[in-house]
Amino acid sequence: MRQRTYLSPTLRDVPADAEIISHQLMLRSGLIRQTASGVYSYLPLGKRVLRKVEDIVREEMDNAGAQEVLLPAIQPAELWEESGRLGDYGPELMRLKDRHQRDFVLGATHEEVITTIVRDDVQSYKKLPLNLYQIQTKYRDERRPRFGVLRSREFIMKDAYSFDTSKEGLDASYEAMYEAYTKIFTRCQLDFRAVEADSGAIGGTDTHEFMVLSDIGEDTIAYSDTSSFAANTEIAPVLAEYEKSSESLKELEKIETPNVRTIDEVSSFVNVSNDKIIKSLLYLVNEEPVLVLVRGDHEVNEIKVRNLFDKATVEFATTEQTKEYLNCEVGFVGPVNVNIKVVADNAVASVVNGVCGANEKDMHYQYVNLERDATIEQFADLRTIQEGDPSPDGRGTVKFAKGIEVGHVFKLGTKYSEALGANFLDENGKSQTMIMGCYGIGVSRTVAAIVEQNHDEFGLVWPTTVAPFDLHLVTINVKDETQRNLGEALYESLKKSRFDVLFDDRPERAGVKFKDSDLIGLPIRVAIGKRAAEGIVELKIRKTGEMIEVQVDELETVLQDQLQKLAN
Ligand code: ATP
Ligand code: MG
Repeated sequence: MRQRTYLSPTLRDVPADAEIISHQLMLRSGLIRQTASGVYSYLPLGKRVLRKVEDIVREEMDNAGAQEVLLPAIQPAELWEESGRLGDYGPELMRLKDRHQRDFVLGATHEEVITTIVRDDVQSYKKLPLNLYQIQTKYRDERRPRFGVLRSREFIMKDAYSFDTSKEGLDASYEAMYEAYTKIFTRCQLDFRAVEADSGAIGGTDTHEFMVLSDIGEDTIAYSDTSSFAANTEIAPVLAEYEKSSESLKELEKIETPNVRTIDEVSSFVNVSNDKIIKSLLYLVNEEPVLVLVRGDHEVNEIKVRNLFDKATVEFATTEQTKEYLNCEVGFVGPVNVNIKVVADNAVASVVNGVCGANEKDMHYQYVNLERDATIEQFADLRTIQEGDPSPDGRGTVKFAKGIEVGHVFKLGTKYSEALGANFLDENGKSQTMIMGCYGIGVSRTVAAIVEQNHDEFGLVWPTTVAPFDLHLVTINVKDETQRNLGEALYESLKKSRFDVLFDDRPERAGVKFKDSDLIGLPIRVAIGKRAAEGIVELKIRKTGEMIEVQVDELETVLQDQLQKLAN
């Protein structure tokens, strides 16, 4: 491709509203442009990378036996009504009407569409198992679109749906997808982990998220420093055992604590360590008030609270609700003498002579001993795991890393097949419900994640497997006839030998060309300069910065070798 007329506008300055490096570099190198908030256009270079990633995804999905389909972005709202999701999905679902005032939604995901197709066209166990996938545009009206294509409102997803006749069948389909995902992200040369995630069944293997390790990741991964254990901190169970101090119980005492609200304020005012403080948070669980207690050095895990109450809706109480149920201001809430349900994290049981709010403005209790001073309905694992906790698999200690979720595999079971009536006749002619799994990859998010992990101070550093082109052929001075002719000749011959070449034939200064070349970050630059007359060109390996002078007649062999080296 000739760069003179190629739409690859580069920017010198960092765009003001781009907070993270991948967003900055994708804009600066001319991969994408923003069309609206959370809505992006891909320019030619960006589209090529997207296609490379898509090709890898497609190959591995096909290898795993999945069949490609293409489902519509526009879906009738009744379908979502039928599955019961129209209300549940909330404002993230983009809705629209056609000219007859019929309601439609823009597909945020495609369980409904695919399940009805399979319901109507597959009747017998003989046609199962089935795994159908597509690579298609999704719409989600994210509350906070940000970080460029990492969290956008229109994005490209590979979504797959498996249909099986048994639980064992689902396990096999899931395993096949897990393996395909591992291959896909390995081929994209990403540093990633498959981590256990929230499916409700704590500690189960019913769902994994594929996380690219990165400091800008929105998820926190808890992993073991000794074993292969990794889980989203949202679900990682806490196995810690807590020692109860043997100090003798003191008498409960109410103390004045003017304007002392936060844990740190309480601990310095009363002069106790955070683990002596009983942090009390008021939640509405299925709209009923519940006081949740954790130690001052711990955090409540709302997913665990939700699971304790059988997947209830859990919402943090507002100032007004705190007033209504406890007649108290936020900051002074506590479990002594309340007539609402109180649950506590296991660690709270170890607090002796603790401190908590007194449900009165500017007042706390000290020397609180819960078995004496409060009624706790249940102790359970309700806190978020922390670094230094024992690993949930019993091996080693927990460490944290940040991750970007690029893929998600999930055992759905019969949620959609039941709601939408996707049944089959088994060997005995008996009607049974199909068992489903769903599997997503954020294709556009993967591109951003690759950039996040592959760049330096000068720009992008593409892994060879997803680079928009293999080579950047640069004629340093197009006014010099020898250089220009050699450039043209090499461009033609390299193309003929099936190298993917971006050819910088622009009448720009050398400095500009080299800066752009580093910014765009193709794996190898081939510069034609002063030594063109001797038939010598200069290679730069983008990743290592290594410079190699090469005779033109050896160029193709050297390029093959170098590309090969980079691919491994
Ligand atoms: P997140 O927690 O990041 O919102 P999700 O759980 O909503 O993700 P899924 O519904 O599992 O995501 O979608 C499958 C994949 O699609 C995700 O793993 C992610 O890679 C990608 N994805 C989801 N939302 C977005 C988005 N707003 N922009 C880009 N990619 C997305
Ligand atoms: Mg989401």
